Parts: sequence; C-alpha cells; structure tokens
Amino acid sequence: MLNRVLNEAFEKGKEKTQYGAVATYIPELGKADKNDLGVCIATQYGMCISAGQCEKRFTIQSISKIISFAVALEKLGPDKVFERVGMEPSGDAFNSLMKLEKADSTPHNPMVNAGAMVICGYLCELCTIEDMVEYARRWCLDDEIYIDEDVFASEMANLSRNRAIAYLLHSKGYITADVEKTLEFYVNMCSLSVTAKSLANLGLILACNGVDPKTNDVLLQPQTVKIVNTIMFTCGMYDGAGEFALKVGLPSKSGVGGGIISVVKGTMGIGIYGPALDVKGNSIAGIEMLQYISEKLNLHMFG
Ligand code: GLN
Repeated sequence: MLNRVLNEAFEKGKEKTQYGAVATYIPELGKADKNDLGVCIATQYGMCISAGQCEKRFTIQSISKIISFAVALEKLGPDKVFERVGMEPSGDAFNSLMKLEKADSTPHNPMVNAGAMVICGYLCELCTIEDMVEYARRWCLDDEIYIDEDVFASEMANLSRNRAIAYLLHSKGYITADVEKTLEFYVNMCSLSVTAKSLANLGLILACNGVDPKTNDVLLQPQTVKIVNTIMFTCGMYDGAGEFALKVGLPSKSGVGGGIISVVKGTMGIGIYGPALDVKGNSIAGIEMLQYISEKLNLHMFG
C-alpha cells in the first residue's frame, strides 16, 4: 500500500517539475537539474521506502533552520530563545526586510532568514560549526553529511541581502554576537549536504518525540520536538504555509535546495528532493507529492 501510494505520488510529482524553476540567486544552486526528484518515507518500524533520487546529495538550505532552532532550544531553553525571535508566521518572503525597520521589529519566527540569523547569533557563541555537523549527522542518522564548500562559497559571494538583514538586526540588539561570524555560521548551516533519506530520518525522529525508534536513543527532548513541530506547522513553508497546512496538514519545512521534510506524528518522516521550485521557494513537485500522500494515506492532522 505504502509503496503503491509512494510510486503514484512520484509519477504525479514528475509531471510537475516542468512548471518550477531551480534557485538561481546564487550560481551554484542554478546548476541543479530541475527534473530531479526523489521521495523517501522512514517509518517507526524501521522501514525505509523510496522512489527516485533519494541518495542524491543537495544542500539543506532553510531546513537547517530547524536544526539550529532545536540546538538553541536544548542549550538555552525556550524563554531565552523567544526573547529575540517571535513565533508568528510573517506572510512575507523568506528574505524580506520590510517589517524589520519598524520600531517593534522582533523577527517573526525562527524559520525566516532574520529569525534563523538571531538563532545563529546565539549559537555561534556556544558551539562550533563542527559541533553542528555532528548534531545534523546524529539527528539525520547520516554520517556522511558534510558542508558543501562550493555552495558555501557561492552564497558568501552573493550575500548582500542576508548581510543587510543581519546588520539591521545587530543595530537593534537582536544579534549581539559578531555579525560576520553569525553570517558565516548561518551560511555554513545552509550548506549542509543531505539526501531525501536523511531528511526522512530526521522527520521520523521528530515524529517519535525525539526518540530513534530503532535504538530507543533519546536524541531530542520532548519539549524541543513539540516546539519545533509547531513552528514548522505554522511557519515552515514561508508565505505558502497557510495553503500548505490546509492541503497537506503536516509539520513541514522547505529549503531552496529543493528539500522538504515532513513529520507524521507517531508514525513516519518524509523526505523530498525536487529542486524545481514554485514562486515562494518551495519544491513544486514536492508539494504535489506530499498532498497526494497525505490524501491517500489520510495523514492530515485535522483530516
Ligand atoms: N541560503 C538561503 C538564504 O539564506 C536559504 C533560504 C531558503 O532555503 N529559503 O537565502
């Protein structure tokens, strides 16, 4: 059943890739093949089923925001974390500066660039990027995760907009760490190289309250998982979060590298790779596949 639905979803997704476009805001991401597609489901019984390119490496981009956020919650606790970042969807693009200039301009949430930079400002004074790679490897059950230096360099060379956001946040006291160090940390996190399978694994850990169902290892505290899943549900798909919540109904997070991670509470994690994006920066075929899978398997949280 699961296999059939997955294959059907993949076929539907395949038809959609032509309507999207790969990210071109940095040259390195522009090299992706828009026809690439992969979907992987990791279940609580240790099963991993997939269709398409599930072992192909791509950069995690914004999905790293949930890893940074989780580390910050575990190290600092929610009170400290939410002192400098909000928990409401923004309704604006992920790299928007529009509302930051206003008097009371706490970044909306940890999933938009501004909020993630606040989190990275905290973290770059608490741990090294090597520590973060370790967290990513542990939580994604993928020892091969590394930092893609080409994507890192490409992003660092085209950083005006994110730099503007970070300096504005620094001027207002939301970032107190060194701004360039914060930016480097942020871009390193975006450059983590993952697969659809690693995202499915992380989704499963988030689905199972922070426990790896295979080993029973506690990888994340239940409170962290609850907060991360909630913020993913309301803010994970940028300004498309509302429509996505209605159509798919699963806590999810996308990245401009083409990845999406989805969490099905108690049962499974879903990882997607599909670099053809819609106008909001979400994988166009990924959303199509998730909608199909959610409908056919009755996964909508309020369905
Ligand atoms: N590296 C990207 C940026 O900061 C991440 C954004 C995304 O994946 N939506 O602009």
